[in-house]
Amino acid sequence: MVQGKSARRSQIKINIAIDGYSSCGKGTLAKALAKQLDYIFIDSGAMYRAVTLHMLQLGVDVLNETDVTDALQSLKLSCLINKQKQTEIVLNGKEVESEIRGLMVASKVSEVAKILAVRKKLVAIQQEIGKNKGVVMDGRDIGTVVFPQAEVKIFMTANSAVRANRRFKELIANGDSVSLETVRKNIDQRDSIDTSREHSPLSLSSDYCILDNSDLSKAKQLEIALEWVNDALNATNS
Ligand code: C5P
Repeated sequence: MVQGKSARRSQIKINIAIDGYSSCGKGTLAKALAKQLDYIFIDSGAMYRAVTLHMLQLGVDVLNETDVTDALQSLKLSCLINKQKQTEIVLNGKEVESEIRGLMVASKVSEVAKILAVRKKLVAIQQEIGKNKGVVMDGRDIGTVVFPQAEVKIFMTANSAVRANRRFKELIANGDSVSLETVRKNIDQRDSIDTSREHSPLSLSSDYCILDNSDLSKAKQLEIALEWVNDALNATNS
């Protein structure tokens, strides 16, 4: 039985980590949960994308760890929380939401995200945002590295055809002219790098609740996640 209202009313705040493969709908669920609970939603992938955009703007070879690490010095990244309690990524004084969503950034971001100095910088920002709780954050290492003590950890997955289709539609809607095959390859490539990298790889441990949303409506996913949140709030209360 869903207890969305009791979750919304709870005075106790927790952190909710949502990790999983690319284009599984993590952000959609995270946003819906944050809205329902009146929490802050943080898209950690947007931060990695913004760092990647910075590297591309400077013409840095993203495969060169030393150059990427050096270029971090000129990075000014702010994460503003807007009135809708969502993150707005500001890179060097400019709001970059639509620029970071294109395939150019997507094709390089997992290389940049492998680099330890990048991860350290972004994890520090993310942990600062989450220190007062009341945050729903999605990414690849949120439950393992950023908030290992998160009261709710959700691991999202969906079959790869469903994921590629979803991402393809998003990119087309964003004005990108790409083929479904290119999108599928990018998703596969990112998943492969994200799960096999040395630092903070995407991995599933026993403290995650698994949500396979291949055949689930958005409403059903929210209902399931809210049950997990309510269980955690009840456990925190007792
Ligand atoms: O979530 P999104 O698909 O926008 O993330 C883009 C990329 O950023 C991922 O493919 C991954 O390489 C990297 N990332 C990460 N750790 C996170 C979030 C994203 O390595 N917490």
